[in-house]
Amino acid sequence: MKALVKQQSDVGLWLADVPEPTIGINDVLIRVHKTGICGTDVHIYNWDAWAQKTIPVPMVVGHEFVGEIVEIGSNVNDFRVGDIVSGEGHVVCGRCRNCMAGRRHLCKATKGVGVNRPGAFAEYLSLPMTNVWHHAPGVDPDVASIFDPLGNAVHTALSFPVLGEDVLITGAGPIGIMAAAVVRHAGARNVVITDVNPYRLDLAERVGVTRAVDVRSTKLTDVQQELGMTEGFDVGLEMSGNPSAFRDMISNMCHGGKIAMLGIPEGEMAIDWNEVVFNMLTIKGIYGREMYETWYKMTVMIQSGLDITPVITHRMPYTEFQQGFDTMRSGNSGKIILDWTV
Ligand code: NAD
Ligand code: ZN
Repeated sequence: MKALVKQQSDVGLWLADVPEPTIGINDVLIRVHKTGICGTDVHIYNWDAWAQKTIPVPMVVGHEFVGEIVEIGSNVNDFRVGDIVSGEGHVVCGRCRNCMAGRRHLCKATKGVGVNRPGAFAEYLSLPMTNVWHHAPGVDPDVASIFDPLGNAVHTALSFPVLGEDVLITGAGPIGIMAAAVVRHAGARNVVITDVNPYRLDLAERVGVTRAVDVRSTKLTDVQQELGMTEGFDVGLEMSGNPSAFRDMISNMCHGGKIAMLGIPEGEMAIDWNEVVFNMLTIKGIYGREMYETWYKMTVMIQSGLDITPVITHRMPYTEFQQGFDTMRSGNSGKIILDWTV
């Protein structure tokens, strides 16, 4: 089958013929229809320090997908050939304390699809049945293909109550923009998103934010004043991984403000801890999605009108992956979807 492979310890990805995956008794085989390119895939493409120490080569990469089940293992009772599914990209151990308690997103031994085990940028993917999400009828296939990053957005955005609250999102990447749409859907009052990239700030405007702020030219304190906010943001969603964005967020929170932090900083990141202590802030780290409450929430929010389609800016056949990665790396894109059925 065709697959996008990290074939050697170098920058790039290679379209290659690799053997079709086989399945065990608890697995399903999926014919991949569409995939999303994730920031993680770009790290792997760029072969940065994280990728070099994490990814064994050769490795089929990719983890955001939608497809159709074409074969099931003999122990699998809940899925049928023909089911349209996506997959949770974190494969958990099932045996640690958190897994045993049903808190699988807190597993101590998580393995990543397309990171530690063969991924979804391929015609076929084998997954344990415990990682498969059967889509409700009517979910747009493009949206279904990005349930994994939408799940990052939803997990973060719903970490703290947002109904009626003023929410600050730092970073208008695809996940920040989806999070903006989610908190808007969930009833936030003011939704302010920041970035330093005009293309992405324009994109954020399309999901109905209150203000898309270029922090190179506008101060958050001025935005607060314009909006009549006197005490700071109630909820912060850090989605840039950028130290100055995080520091700016901390300085603009209300007393008792809650911060959910998804963005991954490149290294250590200094903040003024006095602001955290004296303003009694809560900071919660977020990794992946809750299994499977986040998946449930994504589905029901889409059924109740959440529209994240503006974040999808490019669609192309998988054979044009190079253009897809070049566009992602330029920063002038939202989500890019590769079609594997061509
Ligand atoms: P992205 O890199 O596409 O978006 C980050 C955005 O932050 C970019 O648009 C960038 O221009 C912007 N930015 C840079 N400096 C800024 C500043 N000073 N102020 C405001 N914005 C600034 O990433 P994404 O795919 O949208 O993901 C968001 C973040 O979440 C990334 O850091 C990513 O690594 C991380 N992530 C974490 C998890 C997890 O499980 N914790 C999963 C997926 C992604
Ligand atoms: Zn575990």
